[in-house]
Amino acid sequence: MKNYRQETICVQGGYTPGNGEPRQIPIVQSTTFKYATSEDMGKLFDLEANGYFYSRLQNPTCDYVAAKITQLEGGTAGMLTSSGQAANFFALFNLANCGDHIVSSSTIYGGTFNLMDVTMRKMGVEVTFLPPDCSAEELNAAFRPNTKVVFGETIANPALTVLDIEKWAKAAHDHGVPLIIDNTFATPVNCQPIKWGADIVTHSTTKYMDGHGVQVGGAIVDSGNFDWMAHAEKFPGLCTPDDSYHGITYAEKFGKEGAFITKCTAQLMRDFGSTASPQSAFYLNLGLESLHVRMARHCENGQAVAEFLEKQPQVECVHYCGLESDPYHAVAQKYLPGGSCGVVSFELKGGRPAVEAFMKALKLAAIETHVADARTCCLNPATSTHRQMSEEQLKAAGVPVGLVRISCGLEHKDDLIADIKQALEAMN
Ligand SMILES: *Cc1c(COP(=O)(O)O)cnc(C)c1O
Repeated sequence: MKNYRQETICVQGGYTPGNGEPRQIPIVQSTTFKYATSEDMGKLFDLEANGYFYSRLQNPTCDYVAAKITQLEGGTAGMLTSSGQAANFFALFNLANCGDHIVSSSTIYGGTFNLMDVTMRKMGVEVTFLPPDCSAEELNAAFRPNTKVVFGETIANPALTVLDIEKWAKAAHDHGVPLIIDNTFATPVNCQPIKWGADIVTHSTTKYMDGHGVQVGGAIVDSGNFDWMAHAEKFPGLCTPDDSYHGITYAEKFGKEGAFITKCTAQLMRDFGSTASPQSAFYLNLGLESLHVRMARHCENGQAVAEFLEKQPQVECVHYCGLESDPYHAVAQKYLPGGSCGVVSFELKGGRPAVEAFMKALKLAAIETHVADARTCCLNPATSTHRQMSEEQLKAAGVPVGLVRISCGLEHKDDLIADIKQALEAMN
């Protein structure tokens, strides 16, 4: 599939049936797999042979879909997880353990912020958050001898800042550590972070990849570019023998291309078990088959809604990198030339009461803790997804109290604009 375009990979990537085999990917709804001898099975347990033995670790349906996402991102290995949260936790924890340090963009998804700032701190992992547009000097100054990984989002949810991926990748690589990019909002249709230097890409497949709001899932893709052995002292988990696998050294046995995902599956999925179900993977694949078609319409609707909102007197400001007035317009032209996403955020004049009146009056756009599916929805992050944050943290995350996030679905843009127009009028 290497030479095919994204559109073709969306439809046919990851699974090539043989003669007489199902055209659509089969749902292998089985926890376990049968072997003739315990010796055959033992080889799988020792990672000496490839094959399936228990669906917590690997399942054919999940692997087909992971392979498609890996091809879309231009990586060498990938895996599905039960959620985007699990994907980001696994990707980070596969590198940063107790006593280690992470450098992260501050404008990231609230759940990921909390994961690092609260839960991973409890596990003994330190984190430094920096604004996505900080200078190269500020970025470099954040690194410590125990820094193991750098993290950011292509398009931040919900702040909609756009990351200068090359700049962040350079800083990471100058300090001998990889860059993880959460590419959920852009999707590989609009941006392939690996091309810009990202080493590992994560997704909440719950969003555009699924696109219909039917499954919660995540994915991790490794570029295969990071040379673990060249920085072996930083990554003992990958570069020294794993006692739980008879002394396998992942970076030696599986190389740059396979070490990260093999360790992530063999250790983290084994021990934490945030496994995607075959049924969910099947639904996700149905979404992926039309991702390229849907993203274009999400972007068209997002652009139209953003342009409309910008002209309304009740609106304080609009965040959408497709607008020329947006501070991220220039960086978006570099990383997202074909469009960004359907999510637009804006601030209403009049703060919280205005937000409440506006959202109550919307008819098409439902109030939901969700984004990025076929149906338009909206949310006030400060009172929902980011509720646990202080006013100060909200500010750092780019989420003021009066911010409304609207996720433009696949309806006709004129109907969406008419709905917003009547809701703005109803506020007065
Ligand atoms: C939603 C989201 C997540 C978390 O994903 P879940 O599938 O809800 O666990 C992580 N990162 C981003 C950018 C998201 O939008």
